[in-house]
Amino acid sequence: MDALCPVCTQQMNWQDGHFHCQTCNSDYRQLADCPDCGVPLQELKACGAVDYLCQHGHGLISKKRVKYRYQLL
Ligand SMILES: [Zn+2]
Ligand SMILES: [Zn+2]
Repeated sequence: MDALCPVCTQQMNWQDGHFHCQTCNSDYRQLADCPDCGVPLQELKACGAVDYLCQHGHGLISKKRVKYRYQLL
């Protein structure tokens, strides 16, 4: 999965449980939003896989449709 820095759009590295942009020297945490209503999705962890659930009636959201955004830590 590509994680691009929201500031400089360079590829970020996964490091110690968060994403790190070497260019900006910033740490980001990944948030998943519903593509239909924009509300943060609930993460359901099962058997090593993660499913995303919209609590506003859109049900399970396929990872391909999830809108990821990155929040500065
Ligand atoms: Zn950056
Ligand atoms: Zn939704």
